[in-house]
Amino acid sequence: MSEKRKIVLFGPPGAGKGTFASQIKKALPDIAHVSTGDIFRENLNNETELGLKAKEYMEKGELVPDNVVIDMVDDRLNQKDVQENGFILDGFPRTLDQAKALSEITEIDLFLLLDVPRDILKKRILGRFSCHECGEIYNKYTLQPEKKIGEERWICDECGAEIEFEQRSDDTEETLEKRLDVYELNASPIKKYYTEKDKLKKVDAQNTLELSEEEIKDIVEI
Ligand code: AMP
Repeated sequence: MSEKRKIVLFGPPGAGKGTFASQIKKALPDIAHVSTGDIFRENLNNETELGLKAKEYMEKGELVPDNVVIDMVDDRLNQKDVQENGFILDGFPRTLDQAKALSEITEIDLFLLLDVPRDILKKRILGRFSCHECGEIYNKYTLQPEKKIGEERWICDECGAEIEFEQRSDDTEETLEKRLDVYELNASPIKKYYTEKDKLKKVDAQNTLELSEEEIKDIVEI
């Protein structure tokens, strides 16, 4: 099998793209993980010109204009580490125009679609909470701590702290529906585009992704 080193990770919010990217890095340690969301957040924190441009869109949960994102990705994919070791692109492309622009920058090897039904995504996102002491992540629907001590109250498996279900401020049902609608609207033409290029591969991400290195190598075809 030939090595695949230019990978796009695509999927809805809550699909587990970040987790999956770190698993791919175990099989390909040098590969660059390029997350457009992370780059924007970093620029926002550092109050750069790019960060200021992206701010108003990010705050509303809207997409940053294509030209801004495309220039940023073009710049990042031309840096030395990416050129030498390849990339996992996470969060880009998000529109068909971004997909076409990416083909102009470079031809990818693999478009991995993390496939999760919408009702499961909702449960995953709306049910997630973490331990206030150690940060361990749980889910009230799918991954509760072992010891329950009351209505939505548990003992943290990791550190023993008493914890209760507390939702993240941006994980409300209303915002989530909007984010999923935006995703679905844009996803169809992008999936079609990569299917026609014969690059699309579906990964069943319905269950929490914990794959062996062999399984990862098989998926990324190395
Ligand atoms: P993420 O962490 O991938 O959910 O991205 C956070 C925010 O950054 C998004 O809600 C968008 O406002 C912006 N963003 C990230 N990637 C893109 C992209 N490819 N196109 C447009 N906006 C993006």
